[in-house]
Amino acid sequence: MAKYHLPRGMRYSTLEERRQFYTEEFSLEKVQGWLALLRGKVKFAVIIGRHTRIYPEKYKEDASTTIIIDEYTGLSEVQDYMTEFLPEAAYYDRNVYDENDRKTGQEFAFDLDPENITCPIHGSLADKMQRHQGLSFCKLELELVKKQAIRLYEHLEAQFSRMKIVYSGRGFHIHVFDPEAYALSTKERRQIAKKVKEKGFQIDEWVTAGSMRLIRLPYSLHGLVSRVVVPVEKGELDRFDPVHDKRCIPKFLGNSATS
Ligand SMILES: [Zn+2]
Repeated sequence: MAKYHLPRGMRYSTLEERRQFYTEEFSLEKVQGWLALLRGKVKFAVIIGRHTRIYPEKYKEDASTTIIIDEYTGLSEVQDYMTEFLPEAAYYDRNVYDENDRKTGQEFAFDLDPENITCPIHGSLADKMQRHQGLSFCKLELELVKKQAIRLYEHLEAQFSRMKIVYSGRGFHIHVFDPEAYALSTKERRQIAKKVKEKGFQIDEWVTAGSMRLIRLPYSLHGLVSRVVVPVEKGELDRFDPVHDKRCIPKFLGNSATS
């Protein structure tokens, strides 16, 4: 079924599994804990079936659309949207808006994905794209991207102090919550992205520069790999293994995930 090659145990989630996850496992309490770090009213977004082509039949027309969820009264209503759309991916908007819906700032973030890593076995992203395997990754790339996340965090510590690392289902995100980071201009973000790339970090510049404002929602399900998006403490990152770690294995995989 899987169109992309993924580490052992990682595979697309079925609609029924997405339903099970968002009905029984999606923790509003944990999501609330994450939202407490953010500013203003958060907009959410989902993509139902752009990459997996797995979607409820009634949403066929909108399977690839990024659907913004900004009208909700509470998180349980957000959960209702999840169980209705059964998305392959869920995000939130890093932009901060005022009461008139004007952008007043943006959470600063770094995105490290395994496919961007040049692998001794599978080559560069360009090599993988040529084989139509742009979203594929292997265990070695996962390990290398983790090492980059650790080093990038340490590099950023010279400038920022309020940071969180999130396992995104594929790679890692570093979120920066320092007040001055919210206020960075697009130009300043681009400059930091450029410098970080010059240091050898294989980040997605669109995310750091801010053109891509959506970022994966912690505690949501990554439906391409059947993993739960989870924050990971920097100190435990070295030992963190998303192929086996119980925190990111959804219940529907159970023990079969690692066998
Ligand atoms: Zn590889």
